[in-house]
Amino acid sequence: MAQAQDLRQAITSVAGRPGPVLSAYLSVNAEIPENQGRVYLVRLRDAMNDEGVPGELQQRVRTYAEDETHPGARTLAIFADGDDLFEIYRLQVDVPESFRWGDPYVAPLTLVLDEYEPYGAAVLDAERFRYFVVSPLSSAHGDEEMKASGFREVDVHPSEPYPRGGGSTDLDPAGRKHQANIHSFYKELGELTRDVTFREGVRRLILAGPKERTAEFRRTLPNELQDRVVAEEHVDLGSPEGELLDRLEAVRERAEHEREKELLDEIRESGVRGLDVTVAALQEENRVYHLAALWELEAEIRWCDNEQLAIREITSEVCPFCGQKTRVRPLKDVLVDLAAARGARLDFMLGENENTDTLRDEFGGVAGLTRF
Ligand SMILES: [Zn+2]
Repeated sequence: MAQAQDLRQAITSVAGRPGPVLSAYLSVNAEIPENQGRVYLVRLRDAMNDEGVPGELQQRVRTYAEDETHPGARTLAIFADGDDLFEIYRLQVDVPESFRWGDPYVAPLTLVLDEYEPYGAAVLDAERFRYFVVSPLSSAHGDEEMKASGFREVDVHPSEPYPRGGGSTDLDPAGRKHQANIHSFYKELGELTRDVTFREGVRRLILAGPKERTAEFRRTLPNELQDRVVAEEHVDLGSPEGELLDRLEAVRERAEHEREKELLDEIRESGVRGLDVTVAALQEENRVYHLAALWELEAEIRWCDNEQLAIREITSEVCPFCGQKTRVRPLKDVLVDLAAARGARLDFMLGENENTDTLRDEFGGVAGLTRF
């Protein structure tokens, strides 16, 4: 899973910087009207001025962004300082735009990593087989082409051409022979699918095509792949590619929504909720292994840099444990740091939907799944 690893390394290396660091999440998604005519370059310039980024660094960042006439991403994540840090990541995800000059701000990268698991889509009909992957970081390798929604196609070549014939289910000898051909062909495709799925780090697999084809293909899939299938979608491969990819993206979003809902259901059964209880369970009891937090969370919390601990009494200007001065930080940043230190997964949920309603209204914005 090279891409997730890259992102994890970026989070660790950037988060460890003493600062001041420029952390910018710039929306460059060409489909968003506000970005037409590359107006985001103006927003970037204004924001860096507002934040007081040194002129020389501003110039470097602006030169880079201006040269990227087609960023091929939805969001550019930029990390730069006056020293040797200058890293830019192309994210295939819409992340709320933000700019900061000061402490490194990696919460959105964590959001991307956790919210956006790599998906694979095996698309097949009577004559074709295609495999698409979508992951949070765009990186089209070699000849691969980055398509809409960040999907890229991976070449999969069966050793034999697709079995032609009537597709009859008659039990006459020719029909049986044909069925046997299809079966062995699907079996090979299934093995190829397994190999590419494992190689690409795909944990969630979509099957798409005419219903009878995907159903048969699913039956012949190797066992270790069966439980990675999250959706079977009836699509016509004859439709334009853009349409096909839009369908796949819609299926992916639905599956993600379902995954979040299951997480919240589990938390309801055996978890903790609310800021105070959740932070205590995470930080002091070390029993939270999966956190859910509302993206729109604006809360702040005190923090002791000396011990890397949240201080739950917001008025404590001095740390009750070590006596050093504390400071106030955005809760989202603190959750990222604590989750990283305690090895918990962190799902930020954004948008207006059933899941964010539950998280906000029922769980108080932050909740966690507990080990015991
Ligand atoms: Zn302390």
